[in-house]
Amino acid sequence: MMVSVYNSLSRKKEDLVPCVPGKIKMYTCGVTVYDDCHVGHARSLYIFDVIKKYLEYRGFRVTLVRNITDVDDKIINRARQDGVAFDEIRVRYIGNYERDLAALGIARADVEPLATENIPGMIAHIGKLIAKGAAYVIDGDVYFSVRLFKDYGKLSGQTLDEMMTAVRIEKDEKKKDPLDFALWKKSKEGEPSWPSPWGPGRPGWHIECSTMSMHYLKTESLDIHAGGLDLIFPHHENEIAQAEALTGKPFAKYWIHHGLLTIDGRKMSKSLGNFYTIQDVLKQFSPDILKLFFLSAHYRSPIDFTFDGLKNSRKALDKMAEFVDKAHAARRGIAKIRPLVRYPVELQEFRRRFEEAMDDDFNTAQGLAVLFDIVNSGNKLLSSSRSRGVALQACRLLLELAEVFGLKIESASHAQVIDASVRLKTAPQAGPEAAALLPEDVKRLVQERQVARQKKDFKRADEIRDYLKVHGVTIEDTRKAG
Ligand SMILES: [Zn+2]
Repeated sequence: MMVSVYNSLSRKKEDLVPCVPGKIKMYTCGVTVYDDCHVGHARSLYIFDVIKKYLEYRGFRVTLVRNITDVDDKIINRARQDGVAFDEIRVRYIGNYERDLAALGIARADVEPLATENIPGMIAHIGKLIAKGAAYVIDGDVYFSVRLFKDYGKLSGQTLDEMMTAVRIEKDEKKKDPLDFALWKKSKEGEPSWPSPWGPGRPGWHIECSTMSMHYLKTESLDIHAGGLDLIFPHHENEIAQAEALTGKPFAKYWIHHGLLTIDGRKMSKSLGNFYTIQDVLKQFSPDILKLFFLSAHYRSPIDFTFDGLKNSRKALDKMAEFVDKAHAARRGIAKIRPLVRYPVELQEFRRRFEEAMDDDFNTAQGLAVLFDIVNSGNKLLSSSRSRGVALQACRLLLELAEVFGLKIESASHAQVIDASVRLKTAPQAGPEAAALLPEDVKRLVQERQVARQKKDFKRADEIRDYLKVHGVTIEDTRKAG
């Protein structure tokens, strides 16, 4: 079986065949660090994390590069608005972004380059475009000549006339054609700037991605370029133009775009008061709940974010966690589970269906449905002592497949989440084993774990965390901001 993906470039599903067999070079457009990340960012970051994990599950070696845009008009404006230095804004929001990624439990990309660390590469790229006649300099600014690039519009499927109506025509711009876009912007008084052959300035947003993706993936043709649907035009169209005008080769083989997120049916905006940061949501719902919510829709579909939707996901997650708890409790009744090299035949069918769903353009909603079928079936198997061994294998399979989705299934909402430094409580309904653990024991263990962490004895710290988890006590380490 092949993995098939919907390619925005061809507008159809295609078998995923990377340039080099077995290896996938993937780039996704990352965040611009001028504010805290919101739930729409969480969906984007998470969905591409799942796609990467599934491709790895399928045996591909995936290299993911996800940039951080840390020079941009939005950052400059934010600094001006707050009356602080440009560097202060970028450093603050890079920190917050990294904190959010960790809180969500989303894996780091293999490379997370900062735009500001790659200016010389961008200057070299722009210089070559000028030398080829694809770009021109006017008074310290450099523009890309869109009409000279014959394939312009191939990703968004628009004609030049259609695009003309979409571009904003700024009065004071000196470019030759409204469609042309800036590769290098001359800096104004008080703006961050870097020296260049065209005078001090800063790169345009689009050039960052073309330059950094090819540089860090060490190729002129990426396998997968991913991003939100809202980036197709002009951002991705421009990335293609800049890269292909330079190399003459197809910039990316597959373009994967996720659908956008609305809140209660409306566009998320601060003025409407329906703007939720990742931190806002994680105050009330665990990362697993948020992930389950995202998985319930196809990544290409729009998704309407509602708190009712999250509550439903919490119920569903509880069902999963309860099964895992029961299976863990049942394990104690059996001296040893026979380690199986292969899952029993009745369970292999679940894996086949999971793969079938995910091979079909990452149909996570169907993949998730298979996980719940495992839970239902596992619960039935648990009810009879004769099938308990298979039930435990079902639990193992569930956890294995859930890992593709980055789910930990440890935070059933009934299990108390304790702040290691403040509250110490055992879960009221955490299964039969929890009763054996007295609050004093928990306190002692948590203290021991803190000492272990201070000594950087993470093995012992993890052992204690796992032990407590089995007993229904979940530890969440407090993350200090900054
Ligand atoms: Zn980009």
